[in-house]
Amino acid sequence: MAYNKMETRMITIKEENIEEDSIESLLQEAGEILKRGGLVAFPTETVYGLGGNALNRDSSRKIYAAKGRPSDNPLIVHICKWEDIYQIVEQVSEDAEKIAGAFWPGPLTMILPKSQMVPYETTGGLDTVAVRMPSHKVAQKLIAYAGGFVAAPSANISGKPSPTQAKYVAEDMDGRIDMIIDGGEVGIGLESTIIDLTVSPPQILRPGFITQKMLSEVLGEVETDVTILRADSGQVPKAPGMKYRHYAPKGELTIVKGPREVVVEYINSEAKKADLAGEKTGVIGTQEMLINYRAQVVKSVGSREDELSIGKHLYTILREFDDENVTKIYSEAFDTQGYGQAIMNRLLKAAGHNVVDLTI
Ligand code: AMP
Ligand code: MG
Repeated sequence: MAYNKMETRMITIKEENIEEDSIESLLQEAGEILKRGGLVAFPTETVYGLGGNALNRDSSRKIYAAKGRPSDNPLIVHICKWEDIYQIVEQVSEDAEKIAGAFWPGPLTMILPKSQMVPYETTGGLDTVAVRMPSHKVAQKLIAYAGGFVAAPSANISGKPSPTQAKYVAEDMDGRIDMIIDGGEVGIGLESTIIDLTVSPPQILRPGFITQKMLSEVLGEVETDVTILRADSGQVPKAPGMKYRHYAPKGELTIVKGPREVVVEYINSEAKKADLAGEKTGVIGTQEMLINYRAQVVKSVGSREDELSIGKHLYTILREFDDENVTKIYSEAFDTQGYGQAIMNRLLKAAGHNVVDLTI
C-alpha cells in the first residue's frame, strides 16, 4: 500500500508544560486524530514513535505504508495504564507482572500471547503482541486521549536511524502523516529493550537501556538471542524486525576494534588513503580520543565514561554524517557488557557487521 500525500501539522509540547490547559487541548486533538485512524508521531523516552490506533487494522496498514516497512515486521503496542494489558494480552504471566512492577513505565517491551482484540495487521501476522508502557508524559497523555492502545514503531523511514529529535521525524515523515509532536530531544536515544516472555527462560530479543542484569535480578535466569551481536550465527533473529538491515547510514561504516593507539593509527591511515581516493571521510570517536583523529569530519559520540551519552548521540551522529554526505565512516568499538551491548548492537547493524578487529 502506498501512503497518501497529506499536510503534516507540527506542534510543540514539552514534558514540563504538560499540565497547561492549552497543551491539554492540543493533546486531546492529537488523540482524536488517532481515534479516527490517523497517524501522529510523538516523543517517548527512547526515540520518537509513529503512532496509530493499535486496534484498527487500517491504521496499522497506514503505519507500514508511511514507513515503507515490510508488513511482517510487527509493531509495539503502547499503553498508559497497567489494567489495559488484560484487554490485549491473552494471559498475563507472573513474570510480566514482576517486570512491569520493576520497570514500567519505562523503556521495556514485553512479548506476550495476543488477545483477539489485536488485529494481525498490528502483530505482523503473529499470535503474540509486543507491549510497552512509556514513561514520557507526552506519550502517556496522548495514549490516554487516543483510547489507550497506540501502535508505534520508530518514526523513521524503514532502514534509517530512529529519530531522536522532531526535525529528523519531519525529514522522513513530512507529507506522510497527520501530525508531529515536537517534544525536544529524547532522553535515551536507543529503542526499548524487548523481552520475550512466551519462552522459558525469558529471552532478550533486542538489548536496550534495561539490561540483562537488571532483568535477571527480577526474573532469575534470562537468555539473550545469540543473533544480537553476531553476524555469523546462522540463525534468524527472533524479533522479526531485527533481521532487516537497520539504522544504515548512506556512507560505508567500518567499526575498528582493538587497543586505542592501534585503532587511531589504523583509522588515520585508512582515512588518508580514502581521502586521496576522493572519498569524504568521517570518524565516530569518543570525547577522550577525539584530538587524535585525522579525517575530514570527526565527531564525538560522547564520553567513554558515560555510556548514556553515547547511546543518546549515536543516531544523531549517523544522520549528521548522511547530511554532510560522508562516504567512508570509521567508528571506535564499544564494550559489549551492560548497556554497551545495546550500543554495539545498533552500531553493528548500522555497519552491516563490517568490523576490523585489531585485538592482539
Ligand atoms: P520498532 O517499533 O521500530 O522499534 O520495532 C519493533 C520491534 O519489535 C521489531 O524489531 C519487531 O520485530 C519487534 N516485535 C514486535 N512485536 C513482536 C513480536 N510479537 N514478537 C517478536 N518481536 C516483536
Ligand atoms: Mg524501528
